[in-house]
Parts: sequence; C-alpha cells; structure tokens
Amino acid sequence: MIPYKHEPFTDFSNKENQKAYKEGLKTVEAYLGQDYPLIIGGERVTTDAKLVSVNPADHKELIGNVSKADQELAEKAMNVAYDTFQTWRKVKPETRADILFRASAIVRRRKHEFSALLTKEAGKPWNEADADTAEAIDFMEYYARQMLRLKDGFPVESRPGEYNQFNYIPLGVGVVISPWNFAFAIMAGTAVAAIVTGNTVLLKPASTTAVVAAKFIEVLEEAGLPKGVINYIPGSGAEVGDYLVDHPKTRFISFTGSRDVGIRIYERAAKVHPGQKWLKRVIAEMGGKDTIVVDSEGDIELAAKSIVASAFGFSGQKCSACSRAVVVEDVYDQVLERAVELTKELTVGNPVDQDHFMGPVIDQASFDKIMSYIEIGKEEGKLMVGGEGDSSKGYFVKPTIFADLAPDARLMQEEIFGPVVAFSKAKDFDHALEIANNTDYGLTGAVITNNREKIEQAREDFHVGNLYFNRGCTGAIVGYQPFGGFNMSGTDSKAGGPDYLLLHLQAKTTSETL
Ligand code: GLU
Repeated sequence: MIPYKHEPFTDFSNKENQKAYKEGLKTVEAYLGQDYPLIIGGERVTTDAKLVSVNPADHKELIGNVSKADQELAEKAMNVAYDTFQTWRKVKPETRADILFRASAIVRRRKHEFSALLTKEAGKPWNEADADTAEAIDFMEYYARQMLRLKDGFPVESRPGEYNQFNYIPLGVGVVISPWNFAFAIMAGTAVAAIVTGNTVLLKPASTTAVVAAKFIEVLEEAGLPKGVINYIPGSGAEVGDYLVDHPKTRFISFTGSRDVGIRIYERAAKVHPGQKWLKRVIAEMGGKDTIVVDSEGDIELAAKSIVASAFGFSGQKCSACSRAVVVEDVYDQVLERAVELTKELTVGNPVDQDHFMGPVIDQASFDKIMSYIEIGKEEGKLMVGGEGDSSKGYFVKPTIFADLAPDARLMQEEIFGPVVAFSKAKDFDHALEIANNTDYGLTGAVITNNREKIEQAREDFHVGNLYFNRGCTGAIVGYQPFGGFNMSGTDSKAGGPDYLLLHLQAKTTSETL
C-alpha cells in the first residue's frame, strides 16, 4: 500500500489550473437550481417542504432546492440504517476501506467541480475551496488506512490452553450532523469515519450547504457503498436533529458546529429513553476563541502576516480562526500597525473571481451577528480598520481589526465566527499566556517567538488542542496535525488523528479454552 500523504493544494497561479477550475465552475453552473431528494436506503424521496440553498455572495442565485426530512422520514431512515447495520457490520474492513479509496479517486477526478461548488454554495475563495476538497480526499485516504491498521485489534497474552483476542467492533447507527464551514471536508470526514468502522449513518448536513453533501452521496454510491449504509436526511435541527439525538436506536452522535448546539446534544444524548439499551456516545467539535501570542522576541512581519491570514481566511469562519491577537507591549504598536496595513490590502468580493482574498459570510443571521459584534467592539475597543458590511447582494463584511481590548471584553471572550480580530496588550510573555488561556475554549493557538525557552513554556502551559509555533493557527492537515480542542471546544476528539476511528468502535475480548 502506498503510504499516506496529504493531497497537495492546487497552484492557481498556473494557467492550466485556472482553466481546470473554470471548467469545474461551468459544470456546477449547469446544474444550479436543481432539486435534491432525500436518500433513504438508496431510495429517492422528494418532499414538498424544501431547504433552499443560495449563493451567499449573490443570494438571488439558487444553488438547489433540497427536500427536507420530517420526523416520519427520519424514523424511516433510522429503521433502514438499523437494519442495514446487521449486514454492514459483517462486511470485511478491507472491503469497507476499498470503498473509501475508490470514493477518494472519484473526488480527485471531480476535484475542481467540488471546489467550484464550494465557491458557489459556501462562498469559498478558490484556494479555500481547494483546501476543503483536498481535506475531504485526505480524510478518506487516511481513515481507510487507519481502519486497515485497526482491523486485527491489538495483540494480548494467552495462558497455556487458552486463546485470547482483542478486537474492535462497530457501535451501530450514528447520527452525523455536519457544519457548513467545511461543507465538504468535515461532512465527508465525519461520515466516512463512521462508515469505514462498520457503522451505518444518518447524515444531516448543514442546511446552508446541503447540495455538496448530496453530491458526495452520489460519489459513495458510485464507489460501491451498499444502499442504506448512509442515508441523506437534511432537515431542521429542532425537528429532525432533536428527534434523532433522542432516538433509542441512535448509538452515537458525531457533531460539528456551535457550542450551544453541541451542549444541547450532549445533554439530550445523556438521557436514556424507553427501549434504549446503551449509553450514547457523543463526539462533538464545537467552537473556538483562538489566540496568536506575539512575543517581544518574535518576527514582527511573520506575526502580522500570521494574524491576518488566520483571522481573515474564509472570512474568519473557521473554528480555528485567530480572533484574538495578544501581543507583548514592546512590539504591540509595530505588530498592530503592520497587521492594519496588510488588512487594507485585502479585497472582498464574489469568490468566483479569483482575485478576491475574501468572499461573503454564510447567511443573513451570521452577517447580523458579526455586525452586532462590530458594534460591541466599537464600545469596547478602538476600530482600526474595516467595521463595515453590506448584505444587499451578498453577505459581505470587511476584514476588521479592533485594538486595545481588555482581556475580559466580550470581543475577547465570545465566538464571533466572522472576519473580526481583537488585539490585546500583554505586559510580558507570562501575562500573554495568561490572557491566551483566559477563555472557555481551547481549540487552536499560535506563538510567534524566537526564544526556545518560551516555546517550551507555551508547549506546557498554553492549553489548546492544536498549538502552532511561528505560523498561523488555521490549516491543520489530516494525518499531520490531528485536529480538535479542549474545554468548551468539544469532546477532546482529534479528527484526522491516529485514535479518531476508535471513537466509532468498541473493543471485544474473546477467550477460547483449548
Ligand atoms: N481544521 C480546520 C483548520 O485547522 C478548522 C476546522 C473548523 O473550522 O471546523 O483550520
């Protein structure tokens, strides 16, 4: 087997690649506005109620009309998934892994089409869309290989006259609730992790990006995934989400999204319902309030570039995004000034146009929330650049920097999920780490310093799941930087890491007397 290597990013300065991407756009444009049915046991089910997916850069442009599950259809899908589990769990791990390898090859063939769809449906600039597609490929390639490693369990000792084995078996039906910000990568990654380990899945993708999920189901079908292993049931969280989280046949829930919804799921899943024979497992990847710490012995240019790229890439809509820059006072003014200069150079516009650094934010609710935080920022700190938004055609917000925030300001504590970064001044490096740790979250962080001791100090004391030195805090690579955070950032799971699949498995010991 070829060892795992991450899918390289496309170089869009190359004319050939630009052409390939534009071809992808044409393919997508030809199917805009179509209807997408639910898929339950391979059967297409069209409902009258629809989720309407629009282009966030141009909200008059329809991406697709997606059928919407209700409780009755969710129940039907649950029964299909429950029955299919009885056969799927017995399919050999090698066969399951092969389906992922084939699916990854199909996505590679349709790579620019998927990226172009992400541009249209999620508002991703080319490079961000390309990274999302590459990560989806990575998850399939990586988890398929991980399953092959786990398939024989771990060796255990046997006494004379006995034969002991320790193996992993799947859990059952998993409800996968995926986000819009990595509409392809996280949706595909969480779904295939559950599938390759022998579970069956009810996939409820984010309503704003349900079309890319429908396209991925087509890929899995083409790759030979048997009917009923994955069921596509977009719908409302309050109606279908709660119903499935509460369902006695649900064995586990794999959720990526907001802290509020994550907590709600965790609480609801803890309740044992009549007929339920197990305690549900919850894998939750929630928010972040991620900090880049800049030390007095750090490279100022690198610091400013890292802050700007991590704060404004995909309009700050990553749970890994830098939303706080904590800078030691000796270099505070310099870093701030340079970050403001760099931010003024960024352009915002429709991401189908290759030149724009930033596209829109996802929808009206996000736009309103971000704009309300900008108002709060004006009270709490000093607006340095940006601060404006326009939702008349698409949901555009200018990249925004606020300076001189107190560590406990709302802008320093609450997740905004938009292109807004708050600067706060620290007395020294110890103080900077103290401010950095002063949040409920613990997802990503970065430290810019050339001092080895401070690097080691941060390695021990900066309490985040993904800590980076002398670079930005976004862009974890599957299999290289397993991703997931502490505290209110989730259940401490690590997507794209060597122990992630175990969260979808349970261990069985067998002991035979000979
Ligand atoms: N894995 C992504 C990164 O490292 C972030 C994922 C997310 O926003 O949910 O930037």
